[in-house]
Amino acid sequence: MFQSFLIKYAEIGVKGKNRYLFEDALVQQIKYALKKCDGEFLIRKTQGRIFVDAQSEFDFDEVVKRLQRVFGISGICPVVQLQDEGFEKLCQDVIGYIDEVYPDKEKTFKVAARRARKNYPLESMEINAKVGEAVLRAYPQMRVDVHQPEILINIEVREEIYLYSEIIPGPGGMPVGTGGKAMLLLSGGIDSPVAGYMIARRGVKIDAVYFHAPPYTSERAKQKVVDLAKIVSRYTGPIYLHVINFTDIQMYIYEKCPHEELTIIMRRYMMRIAQQIACETECLGLVTGESIGQVASQTMQSLMATNDVCEIPVYRPLIALDKQDIVEISEKIGTFETSILPYEDCCTIFVAKHPVTKPSLNVIRRHEENLAENIEQLVQAALETKELIIVTE
Ligand code: ATP
Ligand code: MG
Repeated sequence: MFQSFLIKYAEIGVKGKNRYLFEDALVQQIKYALKKCDGEFLIRKTQGRIFVDAQSEFDFDEVVKRLQRVFGISGICPVVQLQDEGFEKLCQDVIGYIDEVYPDKEKTFKVAARRARKNYPLESMEINAKVGEAVLRAYPQMRVDVHQPEILINIEVREEIYLYSEIIPGPGGMPVGTGGKAMLLLSGGIDSPVAGYMIARRGVKIDAVYFHAPPYTSERAKQKVVDLAKIVSRYTGPIYLHVINFTDIQMYIYEKCPHEELTIIMRRYMMRIAQQIACETECLGLVTGESIGQVASQTMQSLMATNDVCEIPVYRPLIALDKQDIVEISEKIGTFETSILPYEDCCTIFVAKHPVTKPSLNVIRRHEENLAENIEQLVQAALETKELIIVTE
């Protein structure tokens, strides 16, 4: 029975003069989300409302599932559009609607009309009262409850009349693209895909960088990262994934620096390289999946040592989350199953048995000087040989 959805958005409704930018971005993201759905859809913006109209047959559940991935949507309302054929007909339509959507009539309800078209002969309050009466006559089992109705029947009178009562929750947040762009350090783990999802939910578009170490890390490990980016791109739109060959840098650090500091020094080079790509691609910050205390390289001291090389902001949306919280989000967004596949990560290959947990910044900086001879050249080579994969769903 439903051919349309009314899209509700919360936060973006309050952006004043820039409101249309947010709405346009939301329309774009909805178009992207529905591109892979069977059927034709018209997405239109009218008077502060966004509607998705199906122009053909479509799979209701599939459309809802995809709309639930569009940041900026707070609610998805399946709506019936009626022509204005007089008030009597409207009452009949509401009665028919209730019958179809609520087979069980032992329910409380309330009618909430909004008269956006001021030449409609009845005022909102009159519509509420009269439609309410008609419903009670048709279904004596139903009861009015104006405070906490089980069914809230919304009637919006515009050129056409819109009727809806169900609000399916959306993901919230802001439309991707309204908040600039950031560079996500994406590994094959559980955390970084979740970090990317969370930052994108605030409207930030993301590019990503992955460091691999062939032949120590396999093609399958890289494919796993591409697969994770693909899942994240369901929410964020296309992701430009930069793949950096990190092997020579890693080997060189291994050769020249104390092994218990290897991870920290490696992470400093990851940050430096990511930052360089970020600056070349108009990214306004870096994003990582770090969380305080999770591993040796994520103690406050280690984070300080890693952060030391960054000149642009580093966003760490998981910083205060427990692993269990992160796992729950990754299950919800669909990355968990892929993240736990057992392929090797470049960080784990040369890892010392007892990495430093409280590195001293001065000591790390001094040991990094051991790399002076070749490191710049190696970083340059890594940047020059980077591979770009454009990941879409
Ligand atoms: P994740 O689950 O995201 O892999 P982790 O718990 O394994 O995180 P670390 O390996 O210490 O933690 O990495 C911390 C963060 O550094 C990651 O969340 C990610 O943002 C970044 N990172 C680590 N390894 C890589 C890599 N090979 N390529 C790109 N980024 C990486
Ligand atoms: Mg990892």
